[in-house]
Amino acid sequence: MTASEKRSTSTPRRSKVLLWIGSAALALAMVSCGVNAGDSGSSKKKIRDPTKGPDLRKMNGQVSAWPGYGEKPETNTPEVKAWVKEVDWSKVPKLPIRKVKHSGDPPLCPDHVKDSDCWWTCTGCHAPDDIIDCPDTKAWGLTYDDGPEPQITERLLKMLGEKNYTATMFVTGMKSSQAPYLLKEILSHGHHLASHSWSHSGMTTLTNEEIVAELKWTEKYIFDHTGYRVKYFRPPYGDIDNRVRAIARQLGYKIVIWTDGWDSQDWQLEEHTITEPQIVKLWKGELGDVTKRRRGVVTLEHDGDRQFVNVARTLLEMGIAKGMRPMDIPKCVHDPIGYREVPKPANTTLVVPKKEAPKKVVAAKPAVPAPVAVAKKEPPPAPAPEPAVVEEPKEEAIEPEPVKDQGVNAAGSRFTVGSLVTACTLGALAIGLAM
Ligand SMILES: [Zn+2]
Repeated sequence: MTASEKRSTSTPRRSKVLLWIGSAALALAMVSCGVNAGDSGSSKKKIRDPTKGPDLRKMNGQVSAWPGYGEKPETNTPEVKAWVKEVDWSKVPKLPIRKVKHSGDPPLCPDHVKDSDCWWTCTGCHAPDDIIDCPDTKAWGLTYDDGPEPQITERLLKMLGEKNYTATMFVTGMKSSQAPYLLKEILSHGHHLASHSWSHSGMTTLTNEEIVAELKWTEKYIFDHTGYRVKYFRPPYGDIDNRVRAIARQLGYKIVIWTDGWDSQDWQLEEHTITEPQIVKLWKGELGDVTKRRRGVVTLEHDGDRQFVNVARTLLEMGIAKGMRPMDIPKCVHDPIGYREVPKPANTTLVVPKKEAPKKVVAAKPAVPAPVAVAKKEPPPAPAPEPAVVEEPKEEAIEPEPVKDQGVNAAGSRFTVGSLVTACTLGALAIGLAM
């Protein structure tokens, strides 16, 4: 065998080996950063429409269908049974299940209620950790309940957007399930999402298992459709006692009521028991005292009817004229995150031209713009990915360390991109050498 023959046989072998190494490195890099074109394409196909309940349920290991509209969620399901086990029932006081005249109404108040029950509905009792106002003078925790409602919520978002204020929307699971796109709409306008139960039942009228089901189905619905795990809960009608509190706390919730006297009474408009001028008059009366208040307020308004939005605009302008500063609940209580879990940073996509070294790294567009549920000067939280890329939630409530979380996320993101660029470059270089 001549020298030239040796070269001619050894060169293809070396080339083959280098090609193999290059391809392997490139494949490894692409797998590590999730850039496999086939995977990317198929996952996009699966998760494009988050309103398709059955697909989302399947992806999240859910067995049962979502609870129905206007129905109390079933408790005899595998999901609820598992959630019930999260609660240490020895810490839940054994209080009576309150009576109600009609399903869906607030409970009836008996003649005698124990002070130790701290039942707000019938005695006005607040627990020390109930959020009923904002600590800062003239801070105004702006909240709207009972949505989202097609067209009405959109009008409300538009009105608030014109004035550049953010609010907390206490949504019900059943309404969300009718218009899940509105959850993303609320977030994309910078507002804050919180829970108002699934079926809007008086919480004290429910069994322990029913309370768990109301909270967790709503939480899961919002999480599956947005990637945000809600942290704040306002009981419908403000109906809460120490039994409901003990369950909600253990499931990771902070209870929000409202400041005494700052219920706008707009809900009475639907029942025709109040007029707009009467609401404005009442509001004027409350605003008269606002300069004397050391602490701010949390108000109660609704977004279930067109009239509510008109009233909301008037009340907002009146409050601002008095020097009040409207804001969502996390800002009101100085909570920089406002959720127990937020979406992970958006996936990164490496663009690798054929037979060339990788040139650029393109960040995928977020499905939902980041919420403004953080303090003003904080960097915005990570944009929301499609729900399917969010890991199966941990079952225990976690209080995130805001700054730490964001730092970790940011660092994680840089690390991933840097490593992959290096790996991809090595792979491509090996291919280049081999070619
Ligand atoms: Zn309500």
